[in-house]
Amino acid sequence: MQTIRDPAELEALTSSERAPGETIGLVPTMGSLHPGHASLMALLRPRVDRLVVSVYVNPLQFGPGEDLERYPRDLRGDAALCREQGVDVLFAPPDLYPDGFATSVEVHGLTDVLCGASRPGHFTGVATVCARLFGLTRCHLAAFGEKDFQQLVVLRRMVEDLALPLQIVAAPLVRDADGVALSSRNKHLSPNERRRAQSLHRALSHLRDAAAAGTVQADALLDLAQQHIDADRIDYLALVDAHSLAPITQLQRRQPARALVAAHYGQTRLIDNVAVEWI
Ligand code: AMP
Repeated sequence: MQTIRDPAELEALTSSERAPGETIGLVPTMGSLHPGHASLMALLRPRVDRLVVSVYVNPLQFGPGEDLERYPRDLRGDAALCREQGVDVLFAPPDLYPDGFATSVEVHGLTDVLCGASRPGHFTGVATVCARLFGLTRCHLAAFGEKDFQQLVVLRRMVEDLALPLQIVAAPLVRDADGVALSSRNKHLSPNERRRAQSLHRALSHLRDAAAAGTVQADALLDLAQQHIDADRIDYLALVDAHSLAPITQLQRRQPARALVAAHYGQTRLIDNVAVEWI
């Protein structure tokens, strides 16, 4: 595995590889890698000739007062995990943006709700960094996790709207044995917060099961879930259409829906979601 820190070096490598017809896959991450990230690598590995993993804590997607400074960093551990997953290139730039960088990519509408409402500018930072990473790596495939469901929807929109020459591949959310969604931020949870954070998945599971059993009113489903959540503060708990992210008032048969939650435990903000179906 090759570790590259200079964006120009990566660009030179991937353009020379793209020319002879090699398929390039990208897994963009902010590092502190865990089995959720590994699942994205495992998904792409058999489908590409060259697998690139980027590790970059992108300042553009953090708002003032958010956890940019305390975001966990562990490049040595990241390199070990990437090696285990058969990654070809670990791209870990100290700085990603060139001097004079002046572009941002804004996806409207889909970014006004859910995490976009509580984190203004977050998804513009995400779309911008991904656009630059797609350009630098010239990737044919890029994998993203359903853990960040809204991010996936926003990036699919961006790729379609800008006709970017790549395909987005979605990976299912990976959980720990106690049901908590794997996240780099889980390292910050105290044992008590960790125990209470299990309530997020429990609450969403109750909602999903009630929907499968025929409860179709969103109010009833969300009330049920809310009763099970033990958090310091709930940012949002919502039931939305899985494509438009528009709120659902009543489930329709075969309409793909998603229940999503964001909640605070002390200084740590966690997100989780499940697919909801009325069969
Ligand atoms: P991050 O490093 O948190 O920015 O995440 C990088 C990529 O890994 C994103 O596409 C995430 O959705 C994905 N990811 C993070 N945690 C998980 C998880 N528990 N299950 C599946 N994908 C994940």
